Amino acid sequence: MLDVVDPPRKCDVVVVGAGIVGLATARELALRRDGIRVAVVERERTIAAHQTGRTSGVIHAGIYYRPGSLKASLCVNGARALYEYCEERGIRTERAGKLIVATAEDELDSLAELERRGQQNQVPGLSRIEGTEIREIEPHAVGIAAIHSPATGVVDFGQVAASFARDLAASGGSVATGCAVSALEPHGTSISVRHARGATRARAVVTCAGAWSDRLAVACGAPAAPRIVPFRGAYLRLRPERRELVRANIYPVPDPDLPFLGMHLTRRIDGEVLLGPSALMVGARDAYRPWRVRPSDLASSLAWPGTWRLAARFRRTARRELRNAASRRAFVDELRRFVPELRAADVLPGPTGIRAQALARDGSLVDDFVVHRTERAVHVRNAPSPAATSSLALARLIADEAERWL
Ligand SMILES: Cc1cc2nc3c(=O)[nH]c(=O)nc-3n(C[C@H](O)[C@H](O)[C@H](O)COP(=O)(O)OP(=O)(O)OC[C@H]3O[C@@H](n4cnc5c(N)ncnc54)[C@H](O)[C@@H]3O)c2cc1C
Repeated sequence: MLDVVDPPRKCDVVVVGAGIVGLATARELALRRDGIRVAVVERERTIAAHQTGRTSGVIHAGIYYRPGSLKASLCVNGARALYEYCEERGIRTERAGKLIVATAEDELDSLAELERRGQQNQVPGLSRIEGTEIREIEPHAVGIAAIHSPATGVVDFGQVAASFARDLAASGGSVATGCAVSALEPHGTSISVRHARGATRARAVVTCAGAWSDRLAVACGAPAAPRIVPFRGAYLRLRPERRELVRANIYPVPDPDLPFLGMHLTRRIDGEVLLGPSALMVGARDAYRPWRVRPSDLASSLAWPGTWRLAARFRRTARRELRNAASRRAFVDELRRFVPELRAADVLPGPTGIRAQALARDGSLVDDFVVHRTERAVHVRNAPSPAATSSLALARLIADEAERWL
């Protein structure tokens, strides 16, 4: 448990947001420099309350990402660093492995491209297997070919985030929860952070605000693009007596036009087997209940030209997502092509997360991590999956940016 603290009145760096990216960054800065004072300020009453605490917990190996992208290098390096960190701290991980399964001939080119990317990204242990070999790894799965990634694993990212917060506290830093940041005001060699308990003066600020990452950044003069548009990701879970249907991770060949990895089956570190997530655009950045609408969030999505361009381009995908949201049977049918024994009666409602998806003005979904700078502030504008996996490596990059003001 963290002590409840107020933000200090003065410090060296304020990090906005106690998700895994903010906590990893605060920890990195605190460990880099002796005597530096780093304060994290979080709106919710607990850390990891949004994306970080709502994942399926997959430590991605780095297969999907365009070679040369930030995601490619930070995921491979971040996963390595995360396994080492968890081992040092006694946080349980499991290198359970993963199959990316093609079920139709027209997916084979995309599967080959994924394999090529994975090799170029130097993902350890990657191999291509035939359809007949799938059952040796996942006895209930079928397909015509697959990529096997033995380095993919699982962890509880909430535990990792809590451990980062403890490291920060041990280095003299603090985490203040229940304290929303409302404005950042640079004044020459310092910047004032206005929050629910007053103000903190710092030399630099880093915003890692997840689904709200565009708000403070744009208010500070960063470009309007990308805009965050929330996508609700709902999971189902297997009934305990049917968990034997999935040993580890079974993923589809993703749609190359979308940055989402597609609906998959994942055995979490606690043994629960999750199915999903769906990807439905919603009317609030915290729409954990699908019908929750916040007028300011909805207006922000609708006023963005990219939203309309995206909707026009992906009409078919949107219809499928709506069907999956409305019908458990349709949701399960999507996954039955990988595990034919799966039945609608095997599943129960599961957890839900909201993806902070960055959308460009032209309607393209921004794939790579994006960081912007304004006066005395660094803003993480896009940190979607695999940012939890990559957090230790991403934190180094963000800390490099923030150090220019220290
Ligand atoms: C359904 C789902 C499944 C996922 N699965 C995986 C996975 O298996 N593996 C993986 O690597 N990644 C996964 N991801 C992605 C991963 O969760 C995110 O990339 C990562 O958690 C981002 O961390 P973050 O710290 O940037 O954001 P968050 O965890 O969302 O934290 C942002 C924080 O900022 C706070 N905040 C916002 N505005 C303010 C303000 N004004 N003042 C104070 N605080 C503020 C919020 O309250 C929040 O706590 C998944 C994401 C989702 C949604």
